[in-house]
Amino acid sequence: MNTFPKYRGRMQYNCLSCSATFPADELLYTCPQCGGVFLLEDLNQDTLKQDNAKAWQERFDQRAATKNTALRGIFRFYELMAPILEEQDIVYLGEGNTPIIEASPALQKEIGGRFAYKNDGQNPSASFKDRGMALAFSYLKAMVRKHGWSEVLTVCASTGDTSAAAALYASYVGGAIRSVVLLPHGKVTAQQLSQPLGSGATVLELPGVFDDCMKVVEYLAENYRVALLNSKNAWRILGQESYAYEVAQWYDWNLDNICVFVPIGNAGNITALMSGFLKLHKLGIIKKLPRLFGVQSSHADPVFRYYAEDKTKRQFKAVKTTPSVAQAAMIGNPVSFPRVQKLAERFIEIGGEASFNVIQVSEQEIMDAMLTANRNGHITCTQGGECFAGYKKALASGLVKPEELAVLDATAHALKFADFQNMYFTDNFPADYQVKAKSELCNKPSLLLEQKVKDELSEEAFTLAAAQAVVTKLGLNKK
Ligand SMILES: *Cc1c(COP(=O)(O)O)cnc(C)c1O
Ligand SMILES: [Zn+2]
Repeated sequence: MNTFPKYRGRMQYNCLSCSATFPADELLYTCPQCGGVFLLEDLNQDTLKQDNAKAWQERFDQRAATKNTALRGIFRFYELMAPILEEQDIVYLGEGNTPIIEASPALQKEIGGRFAYKNDGQNPSASFKDRGMALAFSYLKAMVRKHGWSEVLTVCASTGDTSAAAALYASYVGGAIRSVVLLPHGKVTAQQLSQPLGSGATVLELPGVFDDCMKVVEYLAENYRVALLNSKNAWRILGQESYAYEVAQWYDWNLDNICVFVPIGNAGNITALMSGFLKLHKLGIIKKLPRLFGVQSSHADPVFRYYAEDKTKRQFKAVKTTPSVAQAAMIGNPVSFPRVQKLAERFIEIGGEASFNVIQVSEQEIMDAMLTANRNGHITCTQGGECFAGYKKALASGLVKPEELAVLDATAHALKFADFQNMYFTDNFPADYQVKAKSELCNKPSLLLEQKVKDELSEEAFTLAAAQAVVTKLGLNKK
């Protein structure tokens, strides 16, 4: 059964600006001719149509149960990902195959809609970035093997999660590969900072925001020999397409009536989702595209602003961001915007005007939504809260019907963003976030007895006093 596939593709980089193409056996970040961004294409892909939709669905479904780790994660969809890699190149750290959890019945009732969270925080470094890194590092490993390189310095700028993922995969692969990450000082959470440090990466910080770090990385990419791992890297986008394949597979390859919500930061994720769904559609593996909703905070909303304009007047303008709780998406000049533009056009051509939407939400709505979801058994980060806030808004405005099923991307694990939860619970947000705590969403621990009391009592007496304090606090009745 699940032996490694024989199919091999013929992959090339396609420049979205000047249409130049380059063979994929070269490590390229942006177009050497014009600096434009790439999407990767498999020129043999049409031959996959020799097998019908049912055959592909069955093949992918069978692989869902495989114990061959090279086919267990994102490479379950090997033929649609990077079918130029060999089995020995594939790096698997348990990424992908994340669960879709139906929203708690109480929460669905409360908001009057049907929705579920896809928990991408259950990836190894606790965010969806692992999908792209698993592919990028598999490709790098193949390149090192083929060219016999003795050292590869991987570099990325990050709002926190890219560096956590890059550092994790680099530390696992080891050998010639070393990881350097560039972070905006004080703009990633303590948990996110602990991740690349723990993985042993070289962690560099700069004053400013993500967009400042990105410019430095771009300069390095142009002038020095480094492997760039930001989402301009087309291999990462390809790996992230697995999210779309998993959503389709979960719903038995029928996406009728399904809406997918994703936060937009650098716009790599929404690019990957569109590219992935379009690929499935082109091969006939799905008959209908889902409806797609990008969500942005009003503190970092260049993509929303672009699509809010009348079609004839649209002009992309970068925005200056202001502090956002959706910190991983706090980006004013998304590098993948040209990809979004191109793919959204295609998406609308096939799925109709209603198939592509961008929604804007406030910081307050994001925090309230995240806390509400988590009080109902979910484990979403602030960006997942952003999706939920966007979904509520879309429901309220009639853009999404209650009978449609919304799949919200919980892009990272709640634990990574505990700092924001804490700021809310202590009503301590700096003014520029524009978030005030609502008491009904707050929670805090109660200290039942002082240390002094413990010092004065015997062990037994302390246990009794503590138990009595619990009884009083909870108003317990005797048996
Ligand atoms: C990177 C990231 C985003 C933004 O995704 P883009 O691909 O940059 O649009 C959203 N949420 C989390 C948790 C992230 O790490
Ligand atoms: Zn070009």
